[in-house]
Amino acid sequence: MAEIIDGKLVSAEVRKSILSSVTEFKEENGFVPGLAVILVGDNPASAVYVRNKHKACLEVGMNSYEITFDKNVSEDVLLAKIDELNQDEKVNGILVQLPLPEHISEEKVINRISPDKDVDAFHPVNVGKILIGNYDFLPCTPAGIMELLKFYNVDIKGKECVVIGRSNIVGKPMALLLLGENGTVTVCHSKTKDLKEVTKRADILVVAIGRANFVTKDMVKEGCVVIDVGINRLENGKLCGDVAFDEVSSVADKITPVPGGVGPMTITMLLKNTLTAAKKQIKK
Ligand code: NAD
Repeated sequence: MAEIIDGKLVSAEVRKSILSSVTEFKEENGFVPGLAVILVGDNPASAVYVRNKHKACLEVGMNSYEITFDKNVSEDVLLAKIDELNQDEKVNGILVQLPLPEHISEEKVINRISPDKDVDAFHPVNVGKILIGNYDFLPCTPAGIMELLKFYNVDIKGKECVVIGRSNIVGKPMALLLLGENGTVTVCHSKTKDLKEVTKRADILVVAIGRANFVTKDMVKEGCVVIDVGINRLENGKLCGDVAFDEVSSVADKITPVPGGVGPMTITMLLKNTLTAAKKQIKK
């Protein structure tokens, strides 16, 4: 039976260290870092994420500013708000909760956030920095996964790493981070022929697809490390990942559960990025 990679435990440890860094930061600079989160519309899942981000900020002693707009807000009004937050010294990090209503261009919105305050690391400037390995912020979910691997002493160097999924927020940056740690990385996606043949080679398998229980026991190698990013809601209301946990955990060496694996790390990395942003801004 695989060892469980406990995201709640690691997240609590990292938050403790962020809290003490925020206390130190306040003693040195006389203020605490602040994160502004913009929510457009009334998507219930987005509202929950925004509330959790707010609570997490308070937990580590940071300021949190929540800005909400009606779903019909114009793109211009939203962009003007971002301009204002870019100039606001109390705000060190800015995040716009995605998805946005169809009449608003996500690309324009992301590009408008100052790269120095882009704590999601979605701005093309930050994406480019990650590509060349000289970055200030990492996208929160892949960064959280790297923390989990580190905490559980998973050696990446020279290992066969397979990432399923190539999204800009998870799959692609995940592959780059594993490559940065000298993994031998393969990225699979919906057009991959014979997926199982590739996943069977993996020492470290990261799954970010969005399809419940997609990865089964016959697709993984005995003794591998499995990271399940997926969040899927079943008909009975329960959450599950992209990996069939019960059967895969009987062959894997280590595995993340859903919930309680990758999820708790994502917001924690957002807090870390906000602290990094504040430190960088006072040096300017
Ligand atoms: P996405 O929809 O942008 O990308 C899905 C990827 O899966 C695509 O690249 C696609 O090519 C690939 N894919 C789809 N079907 C496939 C198949 N049959 N075989 C191989 N590859 C296939 O999704 P995303 O934004 O990367 O999110 C993926 C999952 O992770 C979702 O369930 C999402 O809710 C979850 N997620 C969780 C967190 C977290 O904090 N835990 C954060 C972000 C996303």
